[in-house]
Amino acid sequence: MVYIIVFFVLHWFSSVFFQTTFLHRYASHKMFTTGKIREKIFHVLTWMSQGSSYLVPRAYAVMHRMHHDFSDTAQDPHSPHFFKDVFSMMIKTKGIYTNLVTGKLTAASKYCQDLPVWEKFEKFAGSYATRIAWSLFYIAFYLITIIKCDLSYFWLLLLPIHFLMGPIHGAIVNWCGHKYGYSNFDNKDKSKNTEPIGFLLMGELFQNNHHKFPTSANFAKKWFEFDPTYFILVVMNAFGIIKLVKNKS
Ligand SMILES: [Zn+2]
Ligand SMILES: [Zn+2]
Repeated sequence: MVYIIVFFVLHWFSSVFFQTTFLHRYASHKMFTTGKIREKIFHVLTWMSQGSSYLVPRAYAVMHRMHHDFSDTAQDPHSPHFFKDVFSMMIKTKGIYTNLVTGKLTAASKYCQDLPVWEKFEKFAGSYATRIAWSLFYIAFYLITIIKCDLSYFWLLLLPIHFLMGPIHGAIVNWCGHKYGYSNFDNKDKSKNTEPIGFLLMGELFQNNHHKFPTSANFAKKWFEFDPTYFILVVMNAFGIIKLVKNKS
């Protein structure tokens, strides 16, 4: 049992970490800079952590920039206040995201500046073959562990979470972070800080703070708040792996 729990926790937190670090704070908001090679290493690690649910960074960033501009209005790609449940929000978000990946939807140029584009790798990582290979790897891990450790086959029910890890994290942040919790600031939207479950998304659920200070790498703004990802970024900055961009907030 312990192997499955460790595998699940590792997959969950590595995926959250690279989503918030690379897709959100770097690709979308440029809160830090890093070299071209390190950008590619981040990209590969993001793919490895998201696996079958890999999200193309440039499309994620464009959609996310639109979310900030239109937060909780009808043009917001994923405001929970325009959907009856989280699944319909996920389906609509996937549609917009896919159209941005394929180029069917062209966003205004202001959303497309300075994106981490790596077409060859995006094609490989986002292909059906690669996604299916990751899914088979998850299935194999579970089956081998269940058989070797004589566990219940009910553990297989966790597999859909592995298959859809990236979008599930996005959905939790977009749904809960704009619906449940408290507000520190009036952002003219419905963004919230969803505590005490914020640690599960490594700071991403400080949506109210983040919408107020969208370029600030530290999502925690009050003395009682803590953003674990920012702490890691400060360490990486100290080691010269990244360079945090100084800003007013
Ligand atoms: Zn938001
Ligand atoms: Zn953001």
